[in-house]
Amino acid sequence: MVDEFKELVKDIHSCRDCRKLFGFEPNPVFSGNKNAKILQISQAPSQNVHNTNKCFNDASGKKLRNEWYKISEEDFYNDNNFYISGVGHCYPGKNSNGGDNKPPKHCADKWLHQEIKLVNSKLIILVGRCAAEYFFPGRIFSDLIFRNQEINGKLTIVVPHPSPLNKKWFKDNPYFEKKRILEIRKIIHSTLYMK
Ligand code: SF4
Repeated sequence: MVDEFKELVKDIHSCRDCRKLFGFEPNPVFSGNKNAKILQISQAPSQNVHNTNKCFNDASGKKLRNEWYKISEEDFYNDNNFYISGVGHCYPGKNSNGGDNKPPKHCADKWLHQEIKLVNSKLIILVGRCAAEYFFPGRIFSDLIFRNQEINGKLTIVVPHPSPLNKKWFKDNPYFEKKRILEIRKIIHSTLYMK
C-alpha cells in the first residue's frame, strides 16, 4: 500500500518549482513524522537554515525553544514531537532592504494543505504574521495571538515571529511575553508531556 505521507515528503524534497524565481537552487527544509504531536508552521527557512538543513537553526529558533516554549533542543528536534514546516519550504533569498523575500504563495497552496491533512498532530502552532495571514486572511494579528484558534477543528495557537527584528511588536505588546506565553507554554507542555 502506498504510504501517502512518505510520498509527500519525497515530493516536497524533490520540488524545484522556484528555481527561476529565486535564481538559485531551491532547498526544501522541513522535518518531522506523521504522528508528531505538534505541527508548527512558520514563514520560510532563513539563510542559515538553508545552509545547514536544520529547521529553526538560528536566533529565532533559540528564542522559541529557550524563552517561549522552554523545552530542550532534544525535544524540539524529536520528529515525534514536532513536524516543522512553513508557508514556504525553501529559503526565498534576500530583498533589496536586506530582509528575506516573502515565500511564494504557490508553495503553501501546493504542499501545506496536504501536510495538514496527513500529519496527525494534536496541536497546530502558527509562527509569525505570514503564516497567520495565510490561514486567517483579513483578521487582526494580535486578536489571533491572544485567543486560541482552530484549523480543521484542531486547536491552533498563533505566536509572533521570535526574530530579533520583531522588537517593535514586543514593545507594543508587552502582555504577550508577560502573560499569553505562559498560557501557550502550558498547552505546549501538556501536548508534549501529558500521557
Ligand atoms: S519554495 Fe516550495 S514550491 Fe518553491 S521550490 Fe521550494 S518547495 Fe517547491
